[in-house]
Amino acid sequence: MNKGKKLYEGKAKILYEGPEKGTAIQHFKDDATAFNNLKKSTVEGKGVLNNRISEHIFNNLNQIGIKTHLIKRLNMREQLVRLVEIYPVEFIVRNVATGSLTKKLGIADGTVLSKPLLEYSYKNDDFGDPLIAREHILEFKWVPSELHLDLINSYCLRINDFMQGMFRGVGIKLVDFKLEFGVANIDGKNEILLADEISPDTCRLWDVVSEKKLDKDRFRKDLGNIVQAYQEVARRLGIIHEESNISSVKFGKPKAVNIKKK
Ligand code: UDP
Repeated sequence: MNKGKKLYEGKAKILYEGPEKGTAIQHFKDDATAFNNLKKSTVEGKGVLNNRISEHIFNNLNQIGIKTHLIKRLNMREQLVRLVEIYPVEFIVRNVATGSLTKKLGIADGTVLSKPLLEYSYKNDDFGDPLIAREHILEFKWVPSELHLDLINSYCLRINDFMQGMFRGVGIKLVDFKLEFGVANIDGKNEILLADEISPDTCRLWDVVSEKKLDKDRFRKDLGNIVQAYQEVARRLGIIHEESNISSVKFGKPKAVNIKKK
């Protein structure tokens, strides 16, 4: 599929114009960044894995009635998506306290929360994505109305319920994650769609038994074996085959093939 012009380049993805009006091509890069771009690296194979994992989760969410921007996966690194106008808010759902919650408020790392905690941050790198209140979102109209915000909040909790179950079934604890939503015009009607990605880059995922981190904290905290951890998530979700090694798909030597002559 032909890509149009580059619309936007983010830290881990590039968005190109899609083949039809209202569509875009979302390309997953291998770049990893943390701490508002202070730490940067390339993790070979990460983009391929995130493309597959995010596709899997979005398709599953679609089946439980959550509307998403995903139309279909195109290839190893790209998805055809609906072009949405993203609300400048990151919706963060937490089940266990860790990361910025422990740093900002001194809550002990690993504290299990009595119910999911929904936080908002203003999507703005210049200010380091600051934590904001619901009132900021409404006052500055970052989401059009209270009704829209309540609807998105209910989607966040529904998505959390579903994903907690999905991951628990494969021995993974869903600690926290980030969601982005936007609006698209579909057949003349404005629809709120889940957008961006859901992957080990945007979730914290711990092995239920060992609490081993299977997410971007391996990069943030220099724990090593990043791509192996992402691969483990994909394997457990049944996205890639037990023996497959996604990095060898791209970087392995070409195999000899026998071509039978008729
Ligand atoms: N997160 C994200 N993008 C961001 C900020 C957070 O995907 O710009 C995810 C992060 O991976 C984690 C959750 O949201 O799963 C909560 O992140 P936290 O607020 O603890 O921020 P961090 O400690 O990563 O700065």
